[in-house]
Amino acid sequence: MVIFKNVHDIALYLDNLRSEGARIGFVPTMGALHHGHISLLERCKADGLISVCSIFVNPTQFNDPSDFDKYPISTDADMAMLIEAGCDVLLLPSVAEVYPHGSGAMQSFDFGYLDTVFEGAQRPGHFRGVGQVVNRLLQVVQPHMLYMGQKDYQQCMVISKLLQMTGSTIELVICPTIREADGLAMSSRNRRLTEPQRAIAGIIYQCLVSIQAKNGDCSFARVHKECEDLMMAKGLVPEYVSLATAADLTLLQDYLPGTPMVALIAARLGDVRLIDNILL
Ligand code: AMP
Repeated sequence: MVIFKNVHDIALYLDNLRSEGARIGFVPTMGALHHGHISLLERCKADGLISVCSIFVNPTQFNDPSDFDKYPISTDADMAMLIEAGCDVLLLPSVAEVYPHGSGAMQSFDFGYLDTVFEGAQRPGHFRGVGQVVNRLLQVVQPHMLYMGQKDYQQCMVISKLLQMTGSTIELVICPTIREADGLAMSSRNRRLTEPQRAIAGIIYQCLVSIQAKNGDCSFARVHKECEDLMMAKGLVPEYVSLATAADLTLLQDYLPGTPMVALIAARLGDVRLIDNILL
């Protein structure tokens, strides 16, 4: 694995590979890697592309400074995992490399409605930060394909819109959510759960599965109440338990037969915020 800290050096290295006909796949991450991240890399490799991974904890996408301060960092273990998984190139830039003239000087994007619901509503400014950093990293890496996880469903839609807004030809590949044995979606934030919190965190996925299974059997309002009651009884604090159209995240009050939908949950366990979703 070739490691770069400097954006000009990696850009030059990848230019050479591209001129030799190589196709580049890109997996941007914030580190604290787990099998969810590695699954994106594996998909990239299975597609036959040169795999480029980045690790950068982007300060501009954290609306809550304490969330940024507590974000887990494990660069040595991350590098070992990437080498083991056969990653070709790693970009490990500093804030100054990503934002040489400060983040205020970087292009910023307005994602409209997408930024007003769910994660956009709960975390003001989050998607602007995500759009800014992904746009910057894409300009450096210039991949043919970009690999992201369905775990962050709304983020995938934001990035798809970013690619559209910038007239990009990069293909976005959305990869399935990798889960622990009890269904909990793998997440870097899971490391911050205490043992008792970890023992109940699987309830989020149980709720998503029940929303999916009860489609057509009863009203969403009823399942919604059951889920919120169950979560609260176990000590999870739901922020939203919602149903939306899968195509554009229009909020739904009830199941819409014949329409692809997505159920989305955000909940707090102590000071750890977890999100997950399921398609139906
Ligand atoms: P993060 O490091 O949290 O910014 O995530 C980097 C990429 O990994 C994003 O595209 C995420 O959607 C994806 N990802 C995170 N967790 C999972 C998971 N459990 N399964 C699949 N992809 C994931």
